[in-house]
Formats: sequence, structure tokens, C-alpha cells
Amino acid sequence: MRALIPLLLWTSVLLPAQHYRVRIAGEPHPLRLHREDYVAAALAGEAGGFSSPEALKAMAVTIRTFARVNAGRHKAEGFDFCESTHCQKLLVRDIPARLRQIVEDTEGLVLEANGRPAEVFHSRHCGGHTESASAVWPGAARPWLEGREDTFCLSAGRQPWRARLPLDQLARALGLPQITQLAIARRSASGRVATLHTNRGPLDAETFHLRLGRALGWQHVRSKFYDLHLDHAHAVIEGWGAGHGVGLCQTGAEERGKAGHSFTQILAAYFPGTQVRHPVAWRPLLSESLDVHGSGAPAENEVPAIAERARREAERLAGRPIRVRPVIRVYPTVAAFRDATGHPGFLAASTRGRFIRLQPPARLLAERRLAPTLLHEMLHLALAPAPGVRLPRWFEEGLALWIEQPVTQPAPLDPRTEPRLLNPASEADLRAAYANARAAVASLVARYGRSAVLAWLDTGIPRAAVP
Ligand SMILES: [Zn+2]
Ligand SMILES: [Zn+2]
Repeated sequence: MRALIPLLLWTSVLLPAQHYRVRIAGEPHPLRLHREDYVAAALAGEAGGFSSPEALKAMAVTIRTFARVNAGRHKAEGFDFCESTHCQKLLVRDIPARLRQIVEDTEGLVLEANGRPAEVFHSRHCGGHTESASAVWPGAARPWLEGREDTFCLSAGRQPWRARLPLDQLARALGLPQITQLAIARRSASGRVATLHTNRGPLDAETFHLRLGRALGWQHVRSKFYDLHLDHAHAVIEGWGAGHGVGLCQTGAEERGKAGHSFTQILAAYFPGTQVRHPVAWRPLLSESLDVHGSGAPAENEVPAIAERARREAERLAGRPIRVRPVIRVYPTVAAFRDATGHPGFLAASTRGRFIRLQPPARLLAERRLAPTLLHEMLHLALAPAPGVRLPRWFEEGLALWIEQPVTQPAPLDPRTEPRLLNPASEADLRAAYANARAAVASLVARYGRSAVLAWLDTGIPRAAVP
């Protein structure tokens, strides 16, 4: 990241959170995940088994849109999302490179309806007909969440299942003294069970499903497509499909992808009337040792040559090679940059993985800031920690700044610096954090020497050395 002279001040504008707080079992505190890392973790958790890249892209857009709309749903408990299917199932560690690539390919893309991120859902296998949101959750009706036929998932089989549950266990799960009658009373328009009839009167199918799942496990009744009969002291429930069936059917999406549908076609099939908002139609610009993607603005033609020079200069200053092929995305507007990255508009650029995201270059060029900005981002690539090594942000920023300009007054690390770098409230905050990070690294270099500090990129910072 690099702070800048005011490109535009957005400090009074409500910014979308750059991170989500996620509760992971066994972790004492909620984990802070960058928005796009959350998408990767949920893609691995929900769709890791997909083989079709287009189906994975459709899922990535659905997951990102769900997160945008539902962030903060666990606010009262101090985090945004849980790691279970209540929110979206997460796999935080060892995310395959293939899935990271899908997330990068769809970076920032969300589904919109009426100019806003749309309420979306997904489930495992709709059983041949998706369900209307209003049939599951009162008040959730949306035109794009009406149930409709889906023949694609059936081409992968119906995924039949069968449960044989003792009536006494079932009675306890439902809070009934005993069960002498249990039958299907009504089905929704899609054919799913809507109401059951018991010896104690009618029972809503959703309540039946939740109570049974909580008490006896979720593996027994996998969807609401079922038939039910009593057999001696047991309820026999036979059905097919899996999940609530609302929105995107994962099995159907995979089959559509295999049949050659694009991710936008898959999304249009499950969420008709919504649009995938493309922040930018990327256009490649020629460059030798990097990939530059622009939008067609004239000023961006200068980016490749300046970036090539910045790359060589960064490698020389750091004394380390850049081991990846950098990709630079040059955004056409500040708004597009903000929306796609989640960064405030006062950042000129940011680097994650091998991707450098850059604000529109015309103004940066006019203010002679393009070359220093790209040098700083290239330094981040040259100073990338070894795989598996986690470094605090102040160290990564401070080291890049110090390598660029090694003269600075050493200072101890300010406890406000790390939170300010992760979530800057204003440009002034960010400037102060950069200055302190650089001074803190300067104090480390003064004490341990430059080569020892650089070696921490491969080993992590020794505990005793944190200033
Ligand atoms: Zn949750
Ligand atoms: Zn389906």
C-alpha cells in the first residue's frame, strides 16, 4: 500500500470493510480475513470439489455477493461470519492455487439487482427444482429468487437418501410426548414438504427439519424433497437432493459448466434479472517481464515502461529477485479501484500476491508519483515473505519504505501503527502509520543489521526482536 497526496478524499464516505472477522473453532479471537481471502476460503469450503472453472467462477461471484450483503450478521457476537454452513463453510488453510486463481479472475465481481448487491443463496443439489426464498424464509421473496426447474443437476443423478429414525428419538427431538401420527400435509409449489401433520396438530417443515437436524444430526434429512411413512416404531423418510434449494444449485452449476456454459450464463440461469457488475473490461498492454491490464485510458500506455524500470530498481535496492510474474491492474476510476479492492480511495496502489492494483495513472503521472508508487509496490514483491511465513503489516510496509530511503530516525513501534495500516481511518492516520513503521524497521536495522532483518523474510521475526 502507498498513501498519497489527496487523489480524492473519501474519509467521510462509508467504505466497505476491507476485512471480514471470521470465527474459527479453536481460535481464541475472530480471524481477520481480507475480503478476497474470505471468498477463497468459502470457495474451498463450499465448492472445492468442482471441476468446471466456469462453475467455480459462478460460485466465487455468489459467495462474494453473499458476503457483501450479509457482513455483520454475527455482529452481536463480535464477528461477521461463522465457519459453518449457517454462513458459508470455510476452509482457511491450504487453499489450492487453482481456487485462488478463480478468485483473482473474478476479483471484485458481484451480482447486482436495482444497482445494489443482490441477496443470493446457494445449496448443494436442488433435486431438479430450485425453491422460492419465500417458501423457506418469510420476507425473503425477491424476483430473482423464485423457484424454477433445473434439469442440469439431475443429469448428475438425484442423490437419493433414506433415513429410518426411531419414533421415540424423533419425539424427543421435536419436543413431543410421543408420536402416533406423522404424515405430509402440504407441499410447496416446487414439490418440497411445507407442512407435516402430527398427532399434536400441524408442524411446519422448516421447524421439523431444524429440530431434527440439531438433535440427531444433519445427515439424516438432507433436503425437503421427501416422502415419509411410519413403519413399526420408526419414521422412514426417503428423499433426494441436498440443501434448502434456494438460489444457485451447486450440482447444476457444475453440470452447466461442464456443458460449456460461461459463469455469467450460469448466474443468469439461477438469478435471472440480476447483473454481474464488471468493474472493468480488462485490456492487455504489452510488457516484457510483467502483465499489465488496463481499460483503454491513454495515460496507461506509459505504465509498462515505468513498471519495468521500477521492477529492476526494486530488485537492485532489495538485493533480491522478484520470483513471480507481476500483474498490474490499472483501474479506470477511483470508484472502480475502491469497489474491487476494498481499499479507501486515498491509497494509490496495493499489492496482494503477484497482483498490483493501481489507481488511474493520469493524475499520478501529472504529480510525478507514478514511478515512486510502482517502485514501492515492486519492492513489496521483491520483499515478499517465504511461503508460510507471516509477517506483521508494519514490518512489510516499514521494510519497503526503509529500503527505498534508508535514512530515518529510529523509533519504537507505536501500538496504533498496525491497526492503522490494516484499516486506515484517514489519510493522515495512514501517513503517521507509514512513518512509524519505517522508523521501527530503522531501529531493527540499527540493532541487528540489514542482512539479519532481510533474512527474517524467510524465517519470520524472532519474538525477542519485536520493538
Ligand atoms: Zn453464521
Ligand atoms: Zn439443481
